[in-house]
Order: sequence, then structure tokens, then C-alpha cells
Amino acid sequence: MIELKNVSFSYYLPEKVDVIKNINLIINKGEFLVIIGRNGSGKSTLGRLISFILEPTEGEIIIDDKKPKIDIDYIDIRKKIGMVFQNPDNQIVSQIVEEDIAFGLENLNYSEEEIENKIDEVINEVNLAEYRKFPPNFLSGGQRQKLAIAGILVMEPQYLVLDEPTSLLDPKGRKDVIELIKRLNNEGITIILITHRMEEAVLGDRVLVLNEGEIFLEGKPEEVFKEVEKIRSVGLSPPVFTYLSYLIKKENINIDIKLWKLEEIKKEILQLKLKI
Ligand code: ADP
Repeated sequence: MIELKNVSFSYYLPEKVDVIKNINLIINKGEFLVIIGRNGSGKSTLGRLISFILEPTEGEIIIDDKKPKIDIDYIDIRKKIGMVFQNPDNQIVSQIVEEDIAFGLENLNYSEEEIENKIDEVINEVNLAEYRKFPPNFLSGGQRQKLAIAGILVMEPQYLVLDEPTSLLDPKGRKDVIELIKRLNNEGITIILITHRMEEAVLGDRVLVLNEGEIFLEGKPEEVFKEVEKIRSVGLSPPVFTYLSYLIKKENINIDIKLWKLEEIKKEILQLKLKI
């Protein structure tokens, strides 16, 4: 569990800019939490705080009941939690896929055999086994992002924070990376996904809407996206069929505002037509 208690964060540029304002949040083990919010709302900063890359200016963050620097040092926190960024190329450091995966294990006193075993396990997990001896720039964007994730998975983290990991990828790359994220969550890794794609946001157990550094809405995706007007008031668009049901309801037609799937809403609209 990661617990944020009255967490605030300011950048000094050199004047003080308050970016995260008094956030209280508990992220449970095994959860899939999605963070959304318009550009500049503080998502990346919050992601870096949750990953312990940034330290709060005020308040504290506790991981598995341990206070950093008091009960747990940063080396052990790094093993528990990994962060993946938008651009995989900033995270890839070696000229060969397998070397890149093993990079984080260097200096950790593993035997060659242990390293080989860990690479085997992770490379299969991310479906890159056939590219083991290839240079990373031979891979597609989606494959390179999966390689970046592999470099973190090899450290066996319990928490994974991903900051817009699909935003530079084509549709196939996006689909592959999201499938991998879902699989990792099913295998027990706690996921914190920052995204601006609503079709990704609806996959979470919980969605947190950030606005001007504060939690604006929080709940299950169906509960959060039902609040169409609130979502729009902070510069976000609800999922397209949720918005469609909202517009239909505004015409005094009896329809639920919820996370419709294409087939469901098609059926519903056809029935509505019959009733009219
Ligand atoms: P988001 O991820 O929602 O776009 P960010 O956390 O990146 O939001 O940024 C929130 C605010 O903090 C923005 O106004 C941004 O300009 C500012 N900011 C982000 N990173 C830095 C930094 N390294 N130094 C100074 N200001 C920053």
C-alpha cells in the first residue's frame, strides 16, 4: 500500500509554483489506478511523487507502512516501485535487447546464471524473446516501450507507475502495451497509469481526476464518467458513448448514462427508436 498524507509539491522557478496541493490518497496493493487530468494539472508530478523520484514539499508518502529514510532507504524503495515514461527511447540504455533488460541488475551481485534466468522470464513476459540479440532500434515503438517496461520488471517491482506510456505509439503498439499492463496487474503488480486516453482510463479499478493539483473526482470508472458535466468542466471528454448517452438523456429520453460499449448502445438506440 502506498499512502499519501497531506502531500503538496512546489517547483521553484525560482518563484514558488504550487503544483500538487494537499493530496490524501491510498493506493492499495494489486489495484489498477488511473490518473487523468488536463495538461498541466500535475499528473506527471504526482506520478513522480508516488514513485519517490520527487520528495513532497509538505506531507509524507508511506510505502508498505514504511517511512522513507526512517524505515526504508531509497535503494529498497527502488526495488519495490518502478516508473515508465512516455518516450521509451529515453529509457533504453544498451545496444542489445538482452543487455538492456539486464542493465538494472548490474551491481546487484547476481550470478550470470541468475541474470540469464531473469532475462528469460521477463523477455517472454513482454513477448520479445525472438529479438533477444537485436539492437533496440530495430524494434517498433510499442516493442521498445515493452523493452523499457522489461528493464523495470527484471527488478521484480510490486508497484509500476506509467506516465502516458502509449502516447507516442501507433494503435498496434498501444494495444500491445495496454495488454501487457493488464496482464501485469492480473499477475499482482499494482498499476498506477497516467493517461489522456479515455479508452485506457475505463480499464482501471479506480479513476482519479486531477485538476490544478487537487483530486477533483475519484471512484470507479463508471461512477466518475457518469459525471459528464463535471468531467467536461475540467477540460476532459468522457468516453464517447457515455457522452452520447448523456446527450440523448438531455433530450428527455430515458437512457442510463454509463460506460456503454458500441454494440450495447447500438441496441439501446434501436430500442429507443422503436419506443419513439
Ligand atoms: P501534467 O502531467 O498533468 O501535464 P505536470 O506535472 O507535468 O502536469 O506539470 C504541472 C505543472 O508543473 C505545469 O504547470 C508545469 O509547467 C510545471 N512543471 C512540470 N515540471 C516542471 C519542472 N521540472 N520544473 C518546473 N515546473 C514544472
